[in-house]
Amino acid sequence: MSTEAVAVSAVSEAQQHTPSAPAQQKAVEKVNLLGMSRPQMEKFFEDMGEKKFRAGQVMKWIHQFFVTDFAEMTNISGKLREKLEKICEIKAPEVVHKNYSKDGTRKWVFRVGDGEGSLVETVLIPAEDKTGSRKTLCISSQVGCALDCSFCSTGKQGFQRDLSQAEIIGQLWMANYSYMEDVPVAERERSVTNVVMMGMGEPLLNYDAVLNSMRIMLDDFAYGMSKRRVTLSTSGVVPKIDQLAQDIDVALAISLHAPNDELRNELVPINKKYPLEQLIAACQRYITKDGNESARKHVTIEYVMLDGVNDKPEHAQQMIKLLKNLPSKINLIPFNPFPHAPYGRSSRNRIISFQKTLSDAGFVCTIRQTRGDDIDAACGQLVGQVADRTRRAEQWKKKIAQSNEIMRSQG
Ligand code: SAH
Ligand code: SF4
Repeated sequence: MSTEAVAVSAVSEAQQHTPSAPAQQKAVEKVNLLGMSRPQMEKFFEDMGEKKFRAGQVMKWIHQFFVTDFAEMTNISGKLREKLEKICEIKAPEVVHKNYSKDGTRKWVFRVGDGEGSLVETVLIPAEDKTGSRKTLCISSQVGCALDCSFCSTGKQGFQRDLSQAEIIGQLWMANYSYMEDVPVAERERSVTNVVMMGMGEPLLNYDAVLNSMRIMLDDFAYGMSKRRVTLSTSGVVPKIDQLAQDIDVALAISLHAPNDELRNELVPINKKYPLEQLIAACQRYITKDGNESARKHVTIEYVMLDGVNDKPEHAQQMIKLLKNLPSKINLIPFNPFPHAPYGRSSRNRIISFQKTLSDAGFVCTIRQTRGDDIDAACGQLVGQVADRTRRAEQWKKKIAQSNEIMRSQG
């Protein structure tokens, strides 16, 4: 196969380009190696007539030393490096906004897609606990979301498109790189310890790209993360939960938010398709009986606290019944208000007494800390603010251009 043909076939397998991109353009587009899992990269090298162990070497350069220039890959022959330079690239999505807070929180807004593209956000939250210091990265999987949960600002944007593997793993790459930019290549380390697929989008509705990205996270030739430190969060796409159990061992979080079908239908509309009984049964199937090392010994239950809606004592009692046969840990999330949100955040006292009821019944129940407030709002809302600011900046530019035009025409 010619190198160009290799490039085209690898593009169609390993990357998802905008469907509208013209066919000729694809032929000259370079293959982005950033998003390839090891099997995909091995196939890529084999198709090129090279040895497949090259994949592991290149992946280490990309994901452990954050090198994007083939010339720096010193254990690869000059000839192969030249060849790679011609047909490949290592390209993270463009950062249009970044903000590093005093409390250690870091946020990025990426532009994905051609032209003006769309914006997605990534948030890094540091924490100290008994296992040492953690850096948890909250990664987006889609631009917008089709599932339209009533309390979620991403849902309000509607679905725009799936992120590609390079765009998903690029978020992790960029977060790690942000700590190593000024460090000599040989001394670079991976800083992010935990990943949660809890940014924009429903990860199980972009299944293949998310699965392959999580494989790269776990791969010792890439990020080598512990499977218990990679968590996928879903609002409850039941058949895909079963598929996930077949395909990979990672931790699972369920966005429950309501303990009965009537309320959940209203808050998390996908519940109408996969009601609670089916969802809880899928969680039970996900839990594995074998091996202490598994990430699947319990599921995390996420529960956003909405004032007067799902935070009453009766809801806590219903939770106890619903979850009694499911090994789970419950995480109460204080609601993050956004403009025109139809809800308010439950009071601190309400949240604490909800937690107490569940703890007294024997559940491990924690309250999520809200962080990063000094650099805009938490998950799902930064993009809105950046988009607003960009729009305001554009309006300014237009106004200035108009007044310059008027001054010119007036001589
Ligand atoms: N689509 C997936 C993952 C992304 S949402 C899911 O729903 O699980 C990640 C988490 O943020 C979910 O638990 C979601 O319910 C929660 N969330 C969304 N909007 C929120 C808001 N305004 N305040 C607090 N949590 C919110
Ligand atoms: Fe989508 Fe999750 Fe937001 Fe629901 S909570 S709209 S599933 S991103």
